[in-house]
Amino acid sequence: MSLVVTGATGHLGRHVIAALLDQGVPADQVVALGRDEERLAGLAALGVTTRQVDYADAEGLAAAFAGADRVLFISGSEVGQRLPQHQNVVDAARSAGVGLLAYTSIPHADTSGLALAVEHRATEEAILASGLPHTFLRNSWYLENYTDQLPTYAEHGTVLGAARDGRVSAATRADFAVAAAAALLLEQPKAVYELGGAGFSLEELATTVGEVLGKEVTYTDLPADELTAALVGAGLPEPFAATLADADLGLARGELYVEPTDLEELLGRPATSLEDALRAAL
Ligand code: NDP
Repeated sequence: MSLVVTGATGHLGRHVIAALLDQGVPADQVVALGRDEERLAGLAALGVTTRQVDYADAEGLAAAFAGADRVLFISGSEVGQRLPQHQNVVDAARSAGVGLLAYTSIPHADTSGLALAVEHRATEEAILASGLPHTFLRNSWYLENYTDQLPTYAEHGTVLGAARDGRVSAATRADFAVAAAAALLLEQPKAVYELGGAGFSLEELATTVGEVLGKEVTYTDLPADELTAALVGAGLPEPFAATLADADLGLARGELYVEPTDLEELLGRPATSLEDALRAAL
C-alpha cells in the first residue's frame, strides 16, 4: 500500500508521518510531499520517500501521485490562493485514480460562515465532483493557536477575543494527526468526520491559563474591529488579524464547536485536554 501525505513538511504533516510510522506502516510505503528541502530531508531520514512539489505544479503532482493507493491531502497555507492549488491536487488524485482522498477541512464546511471556510467548502465540492472515494477530516482549531500565546497571556494577564461565550473544540495538532493517520488506514472511513476536543469558551480558556500560570488571567471580549486593531497593534499583518477576528465571530456562532465523539473514535481515547496542553507548553 502506498500512502502519500501532502503538506508533510508542515507542523501537522510531520506529526502525521510520525503517527503513520507509529501505527505500524512500513516507512517504504509512505511518500511525504512538501516544498521545503530541509524539512523534506528531515523526513527522508525517517526512511520515508520524499518528493518536492508545489500545489501550483499540476504535472509534478500527477507524478507524485502515480501509483498512490491513498492520499492524505493537507490543506495549503496560502489563504486566498488555495482554490486553484487545491483543484490541481484533486485533479492529480483523480488522474492517478487514488483509492481514497482524505482532506483536512474545517468544521461544518458546508454551512460555516467563517471566511476561512470558503476555500475548504470549494475544495470539498471539487472532491465530491471528482467522484473519488473520500473522507473529509474537518479539523477544528488547533490548541496550539492558544498555547503558543502563553507568554502574551502571562505578560498582559488577559486573553483577548471576540467570541463572546462561544465554545471552541480545539485539539492538539498531534491528536488531529493521529486521527488522520487512523482514518487513512481504516478499510472504509466515514465520508465526514467533525473533529475536535472538549469544547471551551475563551473565558474558560483564560481561567485555565490563570490556573496553569498561577496568576489571575481574565477574558476581554472586544468587538471584532477592535480585536483586529489590537492584533495589528501587536504586530500581526492586517489580513491575518482580520481573519482571526472573523474566526472568533464564527466561534461565537458555534461554528468551531463539534462533539468530541468523532475524534475520540479515531483516537481510541479522549483528546488531550486544554489544561494538559497548556501545562506541556509551559
Ligand atoms: P503549516 O503552515 O505548518 O504547514 C503547511 C504545509 O502545507 C507545509 O507542509 C507546506 O509545505 C504545505 N504547503 C503550503 N502551501 C503549499 C503549496 N503551494 N504547495 C505545496 N505545499 C504547500 O500548517 P499546519 O501543518 O500547522 O496546518 C496544516 C494546514 O491546516 C494549514 O496549511 C492550513 O490549511 C490549516 N490550518 C489550520 C489551523 C487550525 O487551527 N485548524 C490553523 C492554521 C492552519 P512547505 O512547508 O514545504 O512549504
